[in-house]
Amino acid sequence: SKPTIVTKEKSTGVAFKDVAGLAEAKNEVMELVDFLKRPERYKELGAKIPKGALLSGPPGCGKTLLAKATAGEANVPFLSISGCSDFIEMFVGVGPARAKAMQPCIVFIDEIDAVGKARGRGGNFGGNDERENTLNQLLVEMDGFSSTGQIVVLAGTNRPDTLDSALLRPGRFDRQISIDPPDVKGRVKIFNVHLPKVRTKDNAEELAAKLAALTPGFSGAEIANVVNEAALIAARNEKDYVYLDDFHAAMDRVIGGLEKKSKVMT
Ligand code: ATP
Repeated sequence: SKPTIVTKEKSTGVAFKDVAGLAEAKNEVMELVDFLKRPERYKELGAKIPKGALLSGPPGCGKTLLAKATAGEANVPFLSISGCSDFIEMFVGVGPARAKAMQPCIVFIDEIDAVGKARGRGGNFGGNDERENTLNQLLVEMDGFSSTGQIVVLAGTNRPDTLDSALLRPGRFDRQISIDPPDVKGRVKIFNVHLPKVRTKDNAEELAAKLAALTPGFSGAEIANVVNEAALIAARNEKDYVYLDDFHAAMDRVIGGLEKKSKVMT
């Protein structure tokens, strides 16, 4: 796919209510939302607002979703760049000017590990110069966003422990917000967000509780996937509602997909 910076000029339309659970993480980003909404308040008192926060946690548990909700709640544009170092390289090329022109805004860097790994540990062949250059540039750009500016950079990572410590210094990603995988209560909440999107007949509360109990280890993304797969299965079988056995079949399918994926990976 072509490197692109995805910009949502009119914000994302995602709200905190779309993010199930994650109460502590929401609390932490609330401060950023308040700053983006009324920066004068903070400037008056001489407060320096954090420029960046690291959202760390396993895949599919809501890092991107929470970043979008932060932009949505603050009603500011959302610039997102993902993953591989090409994308980030492009961002350090044209992104900062765009971000400055659009502030107040949120910049989201998905999978910052792609460029953010500790320098001087580039594997068997010594350093990876290109990646390290990109990382250095990124650090320079972040330092260039003034501390009274209104650009908040959020970055997602599965491996905070591998990141270069320079990224975590004050004035850079100096806050770490952990996005934990959902426990059974969290899964109930996530089902409650996604089940209303499909037509079911069962009592909604009971259904969410039942499905949450059946899905230990599932991430939010997998839960969203189960709900949609169940609706696909029901539709293909000409049913008028999505029934419990459709959810069972969907779970098998999602688990099957996961097993295949882990086979490929090992
Ligand atoms: P990755 O590390 O793979 O980028 P991520 O943590 O950024 O993963 P998201 O992209 O935020 O994961 O989640 C993918 C989808 O899963 C969301 O768009 C949403 O539909 C669903 N989802 C994940 N977590 C939650 C949650 N806490 N509440 C509601 N839906 C969720």
